[in-house]
Parts: sequence; C-alpha cells; structure tokens
Amino acid sequence: GFKCGIVGLPNVGKSTLFNALTNSGIQAENYPFCTIEPNVGIVEVPDPRLQRLTELAAPNKTIPATMEFVDIAGLVEGASKGEGLGNQFLANIREVDAIAHVVRCFNDENVIHVAGKVDPASDIEVIHTELALADMDTVAKAIERAGKRAKSGDKEQIKLKAVLERVFAHLDTGEPVRGLDLDKDEKVLIKPLCLMTAKPTMYIANVDESGFENNPHLDTVMGIADKEGADVVVICAALESEIAELEDDEKTEFLSEIGQEEPGLDRVIRAGYALLGLQTYFTAGKTEVRAWTIRVGYTAPQAAGVIHTDFQRGFIRAETVSYADYNQYGGEQGAKEAGRFRLEGKEYVMHDGDVVHFRFNV
Ligand code: GDP
Repeated sequence: GFKCGIVGLPNVGKSTLFNALTNSGIQAENYPFCTIEPNVGIVEVPDPRLQRLTELAAPNKTIPATMEFVDIAGLVEGASKGEGLGNQFLANIREVDAIAHVVRCFNDENVIHVAGKVDPASDIEVIHTELALADMDTVAKAIERAGKRAKSGDKEQIKLKAVLERVFAHLDTGEPVRGLDLDKDEKVLIKPLCLMTAKPTMYIANVDESGFENNPHLDTVMGIADKEGADVVVICAALESEIAELEDDEKTEFLSEIGQEEPGLDRVIRAGYALLGLQTYFTAGKTEVRAWTIRVGYTAPQAAGVIHTDFQRGFIRAETVSYADYNQYGGEQGAKEAGRFRLEGKEYVMHDGDVVHFRFNV
C-alpha cells in the first residue's frame, strides 16, 4: 500500500485526526488479506467521478481507491538522540512514503503544549531539526561504509560516497534532502537509506472552529510552507472527529448547516494522495466500477499490472476514453458512438481519470 505518515509534536491533534480518518474509513475486517497494525488506517479516496461512473454504468458494485495513513506518535525534542520513543519513532517514519506534518494552530488552555505555548514556527523547527539530525546520522554511517568499500576501487561505491557527501553537506546547512538537486541515478543510489527529509511533505494546520480566518498561527504555517513549496491543509481535527461519528444523512445535514460541501477529512485524503504522487484510472463495466491507483507517469502496461500481472505480461492494447468524454457522452456507448474511444499501445502514459478496457493475451 501507499502510506502517508502523520507526524507532529505531542498534543497537536494527530490522534484526533487519525481516529477521525479511520472512523469514517474502512473497517479492518473488510481487508482480511492484510495485517493492519493499530496505528495504520486504510481510507477510501473520495472521488465524485466514481458516483457518476456508477450512475452511468449501473454496475453491481463500486470500489473506490484506497490509501493508508499511519499515526506516528512519540516525536519529541531530542528524538534523534533517543529521547522519548526515539528510535522506534524514527523506524516508523522511515517506512512511510510521504509525511503529513500536523501543526497546532489552536489555543486551548485545557490542552497542554509541550513547549508551554502555541508557537508553530518553533514547533516546525523542532521537528525539522530532529528529522535532519537523524538523517545526518544515517548518512554519516553510510559514508563510512561506502568509504571502506571504495578502497578496493569499486566505482559504484566511490560514486555513492561522493553523493552521500553532498547530501551530508546539504543537511548540515539545515536544509531537507528533498530540496537538494539530485539526478535520477543519484536518487536511486540514496533510496535504500529511506531518508526522512527526502520524503514529500505537507502541513496540516489544526485550527479551532473559529480559526480558519484571522489566525496568526495559521499565517505563520502558510508562510513557512510557501517558502518550502509545500501544501497546507487547514482543518479543525476536533470538529472532524465529531463529523466522523455521524450517520450519512446526519453528516450531510450537519455539513450544510456549517456551510461545507464535504468533510475536511476529504481534503486531507486527497492532498495525501497527491503528495504520494498517485493518480486514478477507472474500469467501468456491468459487474463493477472501480478506481485503481497508479503512480503519475505509469504506462498502460504498468497500469494493467496493478489489476493483474498477467494483464501486464500479455498486454496488447488499452481501449481508453477520458472521464470527461465518458461523462459528457453519457457512458461507454455514447462515447464510442462519438468516436471518443482511443486504442492506446505499450508506450501510452496514463492520464488521471482514464476509463480503460485492457486487451491482453493470456
Ligand atoms: P496528539 O498527541 O498529537 O495525538 O494529540 P491528540 O489528538 O491526542 O490531541 C491532544 C488534545 O488536543 C486532545 O485533548 C484533543 O481533544 C485536543 N484537540 C485536538 N484537536 C483539537 C482542535 O482542533 N481544537 C481543540 N480545541 N482541541 C483539539
């Protein structure tokens, strides 16, 4: 699965957010084939296109795309030196593909702040520092290993050592590895290190119900994110956890009362999905309408391989129509009559929202 880790200092609302996500998400018993740890939640990716495809294709069932969120507790100042859950925390975070950094932007005297006051800039700095220090530790060890192996003249190890030294120097200036200009080969070389500051990152600003506007804490987070080119999702986790408890019809009513079209969680999920570099294509037939998750840049055979490896191996063509055309021409029949279906070959790079039939040899 594709995992987005939720990190942040204690008492910023990580668990509240995570519980809201899993509460409204999928029950673990629907996924008997995967072992789900308590801190991992599978959520459905909200996608209005799926409802429309279901109306048009009238299938027996509809299956949305999913992704995983991981609640990573235990990051405190000094974690990189083994404070708190230290190493455990760092091991958890290395395993995720992207990071959602929750920042406290609400004032509440009843909720203790670890540093004594709500201060997003300082909170963000603490987390950045811990992750960067842990990465420097990892890189320093790797430089030593590569150095030993490079002595025998191993070209690969010499190249690795040089890249690692650049990475270390970059970290040493206080910058995350994701901001370092590395080419494709260099990225492949350092990938096994699972560096935390190399992972795509976004911010989740957790505000009060009244804190969506005129909130200096929020402005601070926005400013920092802007400099880094990172996205910010603004939510009130406490409110989301209440919304997540409601039945579907109550939910709709409540959301319209507060003037929202969808729960804030939907924005969190979609931002996480995009952060992971994921996109969706659809299969739509009488038996089922289904959203499939692929990486941006996947070719048609790679996309077919997500359904079944046989589809990839025996790939012939992808009968493809865009969601926009499928929608506009009232479904498969109409889109075919309008000449909107294309036959795409092995080299075709998938677009988000493609509706596809794969043709393949078995
Ligand atoms: P974590 O340590 O980051 O996982 O934080 P928790 O989710 O356990 O939240 C810590 C405390 O802050 C709990 O008492 C929550 O009810 C409270 N809290 C979480 N989100 C909000 C929020 O949006 N507004 C307010 N006022 N309190 C919140």
